Amino acid sequence: HAKQRGAEPVQFYSLDLKIASERRLKLEEALRHAIEKNQFELHIQPIFDLCSNKIVKAEALLRWHMDDEETISPEEFIPIAEESGQIISIGRWVISEVCRVLARLTKESLSVPLSLNLSPRQISDRHLFDFINNAVIKNRVSPDLLELEITEGVLVDNHEKVRKLLQELREMGVRVAIDDFGTGYSSLSYLKYLPIDCLKIDQSFVFDLATNPDDQAIVLAVIAMAKSLKLKVIAEGIENEMQKRFLEEHECLTGQGFYLSRPLPVDDFITLVNAG
Ligand code: C2E
Ligand code: MG
Ligand code: MG
Ligand code: MG
Repeated sequence: HAKQRGAEPVQFYSLDLKIASERRLKLEEALRHAIEKNQFELHIQPIFDLCSNKIVKAEALLRWHMDDEETISPEEFIPIAEESGQIISIGRWVISEVCRVLARLTKESLSVPLSLNLSPRQISDRHLFDFINNAVIKNRVSPDLLELEITEGVLVDNHEKVRKLLQELREMGVRVAIDDFGTGYSSLSYLKYLPIDCLKIDQSFVFDLATNPDDQAIVLAVIAMAKSLKLKVIAEGIENEMQKRFLEEHECLTGQGFYLSRPLPVDDFITLVNAG
């Protein structure tokens, strides 16, 4: 009996693993058809000037409507797409779609820069530059309206290749932001030699900002550093008035978060920009 009981946790454990790997396989398989089935959608989260409450730019975030019932979070499907290599074609869909939205905005005389997220595997795709360049030209978009968000994880290896790519993009006019700033393990030295325009303070430092002195110290240090390096700074994950006020009072002038606006379907976003 003792032996039987001892075996139980192992059984539960392998059952969990089995469910997880079945789910993964299901998603990986379904992802293969997501583009042709038109299951992707961009949501756009406005980024505000915290003093004037005006929209100064916005971030494109991918949504996957796997079927009529289920919309899968990018937190779940991006890692799968990244491992399976599907991120290349999915990422291209995102780049094209963002350029189409920028073209729409431009046509309506609304000039709002849009950022999109790039994951590590996309950065090492040697056709990335050409793809972005073509998408910008094809849609007659001004390249300085496009910003790319990369995480510090991208910078851990292949420094020189990444630097060259970002330099070329910068020469084209495209901007670069460091996403989730402060959560990676890379050294800060990249700030010296990479052509970066903006730091996005990770939401984990913002959640308890109103009450936690450590978070306050970190955020103030990032704001001060960005200022002396002449980088823009954006706070992510603003969920309440207290966080917003702290940031405003300490000269972090731009931010995004549910308190200001959720990510919106493209039409709703354009309506909001038009209203503002
Ligand atoms: P991220 O780029 O750091 O995006 C910010 C995430 O925080 C988004 O989650 C956004 O909806 C969420 N968020 C915004 N404001 C708040 C807030 O006030 N509170 C909280 N709790 N969350 C907030 P989302 O859309 O689920 O995306 C998650 C991550 O998936 C993104 O993190 C990004 O790393 C990745 N991702 C999303 N779209 C794409 C894409 O098109 N390509 C790639 N490669 N990655 C993407
Ligand atoms: Mg982002
Ligand atoms: Mg982020
Ligand atoms: Mg993130």
